[in-house]
Amino acid sequence: MEFNILVLGSGAATPTFARHCSSQLVSICGNRILIDCGEYTQSQLRKYHQKIQGVKMVLISHLHGDHFFGLPGLLSTMHLLGRTEPLKVFAPKGGREAIQLLFSVSGTELRFPVEFIELDCSEPTVILQEHFYHITAFPMQHSLPCFGFLIKEEPPLLNLRPLVRLHYNMTNEDCVSVKEGNDLTLEDGTVIPNSELTLPRRKARSYAYCCDTAFDESLVPILQGVDLLCMESTFDEAFSAMAVERFHCTASQSATIAQRAGVGRLLLTHFSARYREIEPLLSEATAVFPNTLAAEDGGRYEIV
Ligand SMILES: [Zn+2]
Ligand SMILES: [Zn+2]
Repeated sequence: MEFNILVLGSGAATPTFARHCSSQLVSICGNRILIDCGEYTQSQLRKYHQKIQGVKMVLISHLHGDHFFGLPGLLSTMHLLGRTEPLKVFAPKGGREAIQLLFSVSGTELRFPVEFIELDCSEPTVILQEHFYHITAFPMQHSLPCFGFLIKEEPPLLNLRPLVRLHYNMTNEDCVSVKEGNDLTLEDGTVIPNSELTLPRRKARSYAYCCDTAFDESLVPILQGVDLLCMESTFDEAFSAMAVERFHCTASQSATIAQRAGVGRLLLTHFSARYREIEPLLSEATAVFPNTLAAEDGGRYEIV
C-alpha cells in the first residue's frame, strides 16, 4: 500500500531558485493530501507530474504566507480546469474568510464545493477518520496559531499463511473473520488458533509534519515512534537566538525532538534562504540524530 510524500517546497518564508515555499503532497491508499500551499505550489504540482484535480484535501498548518498564499491560485485553477468534485480544506481560523474575500473582490465563483474545516484544538485531535488511515492535528508554538499533523495508517488486516484456506476448506466468511484476528472453529468443534493461520501483522506506518514551531518538548510524546518526521530547520545554531525570537527551530533542536521521540527518520525542511548550502545544518542534526535527511524540492520520501 502506497504511503509516501513528495516535497513541493522545502524553503522558508522567502523562496529561492532552488527551494520554493512550504508544500508537500502525501500519497496514502490512493488519496492525495496536500499539506501547506505556499506560493507556486500549483506550478510545482505540474512540474512533478501530479494531477491538480487529484488533490483530495488540503491541510494548512497556519496562515503565514509561505504556507498559505498558494491556496487561492490553486483553487482558482481547479475551477478553471472544470473541477466538480468537493474539496476539504483544514485551516486555522481566518483561512475561510481570507479566501472568501479574495474570491469576492475578484468575482470568482467556484463551480465546485469547498468545505472549510477550522482547526482549533488545544490538544491532539483526530480531524479526519478514513477507512485505512486517520489524521491528527496538534497545536505548536509559533507566532500565529499553528498546527502539526500526524497521519497514521489503521492497523492492516492480517494475511493468511499460504495454503491454509485450501487445507481447512475455509469459506469467504471464514477468511474475513480470520483476517480480522479471530480463531477458526472447524465443523467438528476443533479450534485453530489465529496465529497458526496468519502471517505476522505488518505494522501501521505513520508520518508527522511539524512546520513551523519553536523548540517545544511537549511535541515529544505526540511524535513518539513515528516512522518519518518532517520538521522545520529554519536556522543553524549560530542563529539560535533568532530562532527563539521568531518561534522557529534550529537543525539540532529538531534532531533533539526526533531523538527523544525515537522516530524512525527525520526529514529537515523550511530552510532559511540565507543558506545556499544546507550541509552545515544537516551536520548539526546528524550529530544529534544520525538518521536525518535534508528535504529537496521534488524529493519523494517513502514511509516504511
Ligand atoms: Zn514558514
Ligand atoms: Zn510561520
